[in-house]
Parts: sequence; C-alpha cells; structure tokens
Amino acid sequence: MLVSVLSYFLTADLIEQGCIVDWQSVGMTSGTILLGISALQTLGAVVARGFRGRAARRRYLARRSDFNQRLQAGLQWARAAKPTFKAWSGTRPFRVSAVVDEATDCKSFYLTPADGRPLPRFEPGQYLTFDLQTDPRRRPLVRCYSLSERPREDFYRITIKRTGAPLGKSDLPPGQGSSFFHDQIHVGSTLEVQSPQGIFFLDPTDDGPVVLIGAGIGITPLLSMANSIVHQQSRRKVFLLAGFGNSREHPFRSRFLELASCDNLHLDLSYSRPTPADTLGRDFDHRGRIDIARLRQVLPSSNFRFYVCGPAPMMESLVPALLEWGVPESHLHYEAFGPASVKVGRSANLDAGPCHVKFTQEGESYTWTGEHPSLLDFAESQGVALDCGCRAGNCGQCLVTVREGKIAHAKEPGSPVGDHECLTCIAVPQGDVVLDS
Ligand SMILES: Cc1cc2nc3c(=O)[nH]c(=O)nc-3n(C[C@H](O)[C@H](O)[C@H](O)COP(=O)(O)OP(=O)(O)OC[C@H]3O[C@@H](n4cnc5c(N)ncnc54)[C@H](O)[C@@H]3O)c2cc1C
Repeated sequence: MLVSVLSYFLTADLIEQGCIVDWQSVGMTSGTILLGISALQTLGAVVARGFRGRAARRRYLARRSDFNQRLQAGLQWARAAKPTFKAWSGTRPFRVSAVVDEATDCKSFYLTPADGRPLPRFEPGQYLTFDLQTDPRRRPLVRCYSLSERPREDFYRITIKRTGAPLGKSDLPPGQGSSFFHDQIHVGSTLEVQSPQGIFFLDPTDDGPVVLIGAGIGITPLLSMANSIVHQQSRRKVFLLAGFGNSREHPFRSRFLELASCDNLHLDLSYSRPTPADTLGRDFDHRGRIDIARLRQVLPSSNFRFYVCGPAPMMESLVPALLEWGVPESHLHYEAFGPASVKVGRSANLDAGPCHVKFTQEGESYTWTGEHPSLLDFAESQGVALDCGCRAGNCGQCLVTVREGKIAHAKEPGSPVGDHECLTCIAVPQGDVVLDS
C-alpha cells in the first residue's frame, strides 16, 4: 500500500514537471522504484530476523550456561554432601613431590598420584585421610589432614603442624602422626591416601557473602576456600579472619598479602603474642585472639554464612557466641581438628543418663554415667582398647556395630556409618547398649 501511494505521487510529480516522455517510461520508473523498495523491505526483514535470532541465541546460550552451572553445582553438592561418596575406595599411593617450610614447626607436603592417573576434584574445605605406616610391625596409624590449596589438576597439598607433648607434660611422647610427617616424610616418599572427604566445605550453589575464620593450623581448610573463591574470579564478598601467635607462627604470609590485595576480600589478621618486630597496623590488624568482640568490630552484621576452624577453646567459645549473635545454625559451619566439645543443636540435647554399656570382646558391662564425652573415651577409661584415628568423627577408624540398643552421634559423621553402626569417638548411648568391639 505504502509502495503504491509513493509511486503514484512520484509519477504525478514527474508529469507535472514535464519530464514524462511516455507511459512506458513511467511504468519502467515506478516498477524500478517498486522493486527497490520491496528489496529494501526484504533486506530489513532479513536483518531484523537476524538480530532477533542472535538475541534469541544469546538468551538460549545464557539459559543453557546457567542450567549447566546449576547442574554442576548440584552434582558437586550431592557428591560432597554424601559422606559415603569416595573418588576411590581404600587407599591410593601418592608420591611427595615437594616439602615446604611454611612457619615454625609447620610444613606443606605436595602430593601427586604415584599411579599417574588423574587427580579427582574435591570441595574446598575437605580433607585427606592417611594410613601411615609408622611401624611395620603394627597396624597403620590413621590421621586426617585438610587440603590447604584450592582444587587443582596437578597436586594436592596438605599443611601439618608438629604436635608436641601437652603443656607441662613433657614426659609424654609428642604427636605420632605429625612427627612422622615432619621427621620421616621427604620428597620421593610414598604415602597411602584415602579419597578426599568431609562435610565442611563451601556450598557451591551459594555465591552470597561469606566469613571464613581460621586460627592456628585450623587455617588450612579456610585457605583452600579463600584461594578457590579468588581463583574463580568470583565477586563474592569474603571476610577472612585469621589468628596466629605471631609472624613466626604464621604460615603462607606472602599468600595472605596477595589475598589482602583482592577487592572483594577483607583480611583481618590477629596475633595473640606478637614478636617485638611485629608491628600493629603493618604486619597484623588486631592484638589478641579472634573472639566475638573482634567479629562485631570487623563485620557490618551477622548476616553471613560462617565457616570456622581452629583450636578447641576457640571453637567452644566462638560457635555458641555466633549463635547468640543471631547467626542461624544453618549458616554456621565448623570443623574441629580434634575432640572439641562444641555443644549446639543436636549435641546440646543429647540426654545420656545412666545406663549399661557392654563391649562384646570384654563380655562385661560398665555403667555409663554421662561424664565422658564419647563412648571411645568411656571405653578407654575402663581399659577397653578400641581402634581410633582422628577422634573427631571423620576418619571412620573407630566404627563399630551396635548389637543392641540405641546410640546418638553428637555431630554429623564425616565418614560413612551404616544403620546399626556408630563412630565411638562421637557417639553416646541412649540407654543400655551392646557394642561389637
Ligand atoms: C578433619 C581433620 C582435619 C585436620 N587437618 C589438619 C591440618 O590441616 N593440619 C594439621 O596439622 N592437623 C590437622 N588435623 C589434626 C591431625 O589429624 C592430628 O590430630 C594432629 O596432627 C595430631 O596428631 P598426632 O598423631 O601428631 O598426635 P597424637 O599422637 O594423636 O597425640 C596428640 C597429643 O596427645 C599427646 N599424648 C601422647 N600420649 C599421650 C598420653 N598417653 N596421654 C595424653 N596425651 C598424650 C601428644 O603429646 C599430643 O600432644 C586435622 C584433623 C581432622 C580431624
């Protein structure tokens, strides 16, 4: 319609100006114009369709990438959240490819698979369990160590602090596992390693702001998390609160400086016993330990997800204080490297009144009065020897069958536990029980 009207006026204009020679030329001219306009219309339609097509494709690709990311995150979550998931079963030999001094009595061990097969991914925050052949005449010593670097394809890294005898008890032998690593493991040593596991890890489906709190050697899983977030170039806001005695006991100092220069990461460094050379404001931010008062100074609110790992006294005071500050239990994730007795949620409500505990190997019943934190401690106090490893519900070494009665776990087990089984290091009886020991 538009085209016909246009050509009518154009032709009329030409006749008025006396330019018309004959009707054939008029026909030819208007035909050409018509053709040109129709070609332009077609071209316009094609270009518009092209743009629409490109926009639709962009939308499709964005939706597909979003879907893939969610699927990947869901898979990652499902894989890691299931303590029974193992990238390999039993142990796998790993060769130590490097040993690095990180601080006083603190070393990193870089591990590569001795079988040359690929290195499975893990979730930042998870740990490795080692079957250490400290004495060829005895069963391996089982110990857990957190992965201290982000997931990489070329190596796993663990960082170990040498554990001495407890303060004032120098007659006791030093820690067996950590001494074995420090004194007998070198580049080229081979270690038997179980698959990465653990339920203390960053939720891969969440990109909200996060607070990472680590003290002493408890910094290792938090460093893996921080490195992982920074490596992904995520804009996720991170508050990293780290506490050490002083600069000499502070592992990964140069890495901490790099992390502090990231726009989305706020580092707050506490030294409880700074050396004369450590300067407040230059080398560290706060003199003292990380406590709730410091958290309230550093954080704008309690509205974050918290990941906490550190010595037992810190865990036992900080975790309840965070709950009191209004952090929901679902936003509070913590890991103890040993038998810290943090009592929140399920563990706070365990009613372990007097009852009888029988160990089948002994055939004898003992009276549980509730004064021991776990069945393992109780058994040891009665002179009953049970297998154990980490004493924190992670390595699975203290797993026994519950023949009769009911038990409760004070925290979620970090390794697989069947229906009629329990991890004695974190279990308490719920009435009379018989344990297959
Ligand atoms: C999930 C998880 C992750 C971990 N990650 C790390 C990590 O990244 N880095 C790290 O360094 N550690 C980590 N740990 C801790 C680690 O597993 C060991 O617990 C730690 O190395 C100490 O073990 P050990 O064998 O050296 O000491 P043990 O031999 O278990 O001794 C522990 C203490 O008991 C004392 N002791 C010895 N005999 C007696 C006795 N008869 N009576 C009383 N006390 C005695 C020892 O002197 C020592 O102080 C982690 C633990 C867990 C559960």
